[in-house]
Amino acid sequence: MNVVRSAPKSANGGTAPSILVVEDEQALGLLLSYNLEAEGFTVERVERGDEAEVRLAEIPPDLVILDWMLPGVSGLEICRRLRARESTRTLPVIMLTARGEEAERVRGLSVGADDYVVKPFSVPELMARVRSLLRRSRPERVANRLSAGDLDLDRETRRVRRGTRDIHLGPTEFRLLDYLMERPGRVFSRSQLLDGVWGQSVEIDERTVDVHVGRLRKSLSRGRERDPIRTVRGAGYSFDETFGRT
Ligand code: CA
Repeated sequence: MNVVRSAPKSANGGTAPSILVVEDEQALGLLLSYNLEAEGFTVERVERGDEAEVRLAEIPPDLVILDWMLPGVSGLEICRRLRARESTRTLPVIMLTARGEEAERVRGLSVGADDYVVKPFSVPELMARVRSLLRRSRPERVANRLSAGDLDLDRETRRVRRGTRDIHLGPTEFRLLDYLMERPGRVFSRSQLLDGVWGQSVEIDERTVDVHVGRLRKSLSRGRERDPIRTVRGAGYSFDETFGRT
């Protein structure tokens, strides 16, 4: 059985939520695992429906990303069976599908999928849905707030504050800060930021990243306030892990 397992340590020292990815397109499965792990989740990946069945009969994960068309058993059938079983009745399921027709969507939701994403989708969009679904099902497992020093980011209300001051950010600057702040100290290249914040499918010049980082900095720091974003020459940007500590 082809199970790929990995368990990164979560930032807060707790157990990272576990996600099972069931996807027979290997490249997409890998892309999803990579991005989910970067978000701090524990990921297992299987490529066949029957393998997923075996895996799900063991200890259920915290969430399943389930492709519709699979060899072995279809995603639709797996979802139906999950809902029929007591231990997995409320297990969060996001269905992936290449079909975009309304009737198919309704069918997916009627067998009990919590959310439904049509391929091709943007990875940040799917990550946002994963977080939002986990927040609903396991509020204790996903952080709604990120904070460092006097800087606070609230994902629920989408508000950012520095001390007592409200900071108004555009949607891209907000996602950029969220992305960097969740992984303090890690340096991201411009192309990694484009993938993680803007999404893989976009064709944007890497200099766009500099423009948005510049705007973000301008909003975050006034006068002599310390800049929480670090520029690493020749490498990219990171959220300064010493911010608020020194
Ligand atoms: Ca498929």
